[in-house]
Amino acid sequence: MKKFVPYGDKPAEKAVVLLIRIAKTLFVDDCNCLICGRELIEKHRSGLCPECLKNLSLNNGEICRKCGRVLENEADYCNTCQNNDRHFNAARSVCVYEGEAVKLVQGLKFGNKRYYAKYLANLMADKYLDEEMDCDCVIAVPLSSKRRKLRGYNQADLLARELSSSLRLDYIDKVLVKVKDNEMQAKLGHAQREENVKGAYKVEDRDAVKGRKVLLVDDVMTTGATASEAARVLLKAKAQSVSVLTFASTRYKVPSETGDGEENYEEQMV
Ligand SMILES: [Zn+2]
Ligand SMILES: [Zn+2]
Repeated sequence: MKKFVPYGDKPAEKAVVLLIRIAKTLFVDDCNCLICGRELIEKHRSGLCPECLKNLSLNNGEICRKCGRVLENEADYCNTCQNNDRHFNAARSVCVYEGEAVKLVQGLKFGNKRYYAKYLANLMADKYLDEEMDCDCVIAVPLSSKRRKLRGYNQADLLARELSSSLRLDYIDKVLVKVKDNEMQAKLGHAQREENVKGAYKVEDRDAVKGRKVLLVDDVMTTGATASEAARVLLKAKAQSVSVLTFASTRYKVPSETGDGEENYEEQMV
């Protein structure tokens, strides 16, 4: 009778197992799913196992044509886009900000998992190409210097850099800056947020954006007030157009009698 040899007992198999262990130590993010940590048999651009990837609510269904957020009805535009000036051409996002997407964004933002940016940007690059967005440079939505110092980095910056290299677009750094600390936006509706964000951004070098088709990048879009204000100042500095790409966006909520439907979101744009 043939002797049963468990996996890893033969010298060659032992060597393979050892090599995998070494590789996992060196490139841990490349071998395990970012969310559940399961070993990835086949590497995927998203850094996720098939199950976790399936659990992302991708923004492929009914979305607002302007801000790209998922709608609960079949309207072309959400109420916020219908009733307000939106200074960006269009905003698009990979998925809805819920479930696994929250874990990814929070890991990138609060868990110091900067290497997530590469994977999230891969999905964003796919979205850019699917949507045939036509831009020639990438700019990140900036943090205030206080917030940046606290965190040590700007997650939008990491995403923008990865995107610029994979899409071969120019990366424009330190040109759009935040000049007003308006970051306590939690629990504000769209109208209040729009007011709160006014004058928050400034373009430091107008020549750098003049005539450019800007891709404005952030991790999450909530009401779109921040993106719209940043787009406004970029257009004022003579950018040709501004399109917005984020990893996730919140679901659009139908207005209630007491508010504009956009209140009670945790602020995610900081
Ligand atoms: Zn997984
Ligand atoms: Zn909209």
